[in-house]
Amino acid sequence: MYAKPIQELIRAFSRLPSVGERTAERFVFHLLKSGKKDVTEITLTLKNLIETVKSCEVCWDFTDKSPCDLCSDVRRDHKVICVVTQAQDRETIEHTGQFMGVYHILRGTLKTDDDNIAKYLKINELMNRLQKNEVDEVILALNPDISGETTMMYLERQIKKIAPLIKVTRLARGLPMGSDIQYADEITLGSALKNRVSS
Ligand SMILES: [Zn+2]
Repeated sequence: MYAKPIQELIRAFSRLPSVGERTAERFVFHLLKSGKKDVTEITLTLKNLIETVKSCEVCWDFTDKSPCDLCSDVRRDHKVICVVTQAQDRETIEHTGQFMGVYHILRGTLKTDDDNIAKYLKINELMNRLQKNEVDEVILALNPDISGETTMMYLERQIKKIAPLIKVTRLARGLPMGSDIQYADEITLGSALKNRVSS
């Protein structure tokens, strides 16, 4: 059996997505072999991450200042909000160069319509934002899978209730069902965004 500190670090790494116990073991022994320099660098960057990265109070992206650069950018169109599941999707959409509005990061999707998780997502924050600001359009850019669809239908109903004049759109078909926006190719995603359709 490994020494306790080794076991503990293996357990900690195993909690990361896509890291099984074998991979976690490999990480730990790599660090033990590579000596203090790598470990110190990782420790410092992790500490820095935890101490400086916070949530943008407008879009709920992870940022080192709030409001984040994008939310404070006057060249962006603040009347068009693109709703995405997670920060990585925002990054992918930015890379298409086809969107000049602003974002709202939901931080997850609903599994069912009356999912309890709704209160943990940034849905109320989105509704507050729509009520407090002049918004023309909300683009629902969630993954084309079951929970993405469920969430988009839920959001659409909520938006119609509180702000019926706001146009709600979705990405044009083109992204295969079940695909992940985070990994979509920029050209397909860019055109799905440009040719978005009314919801
Ligand atoms: Zn922001």
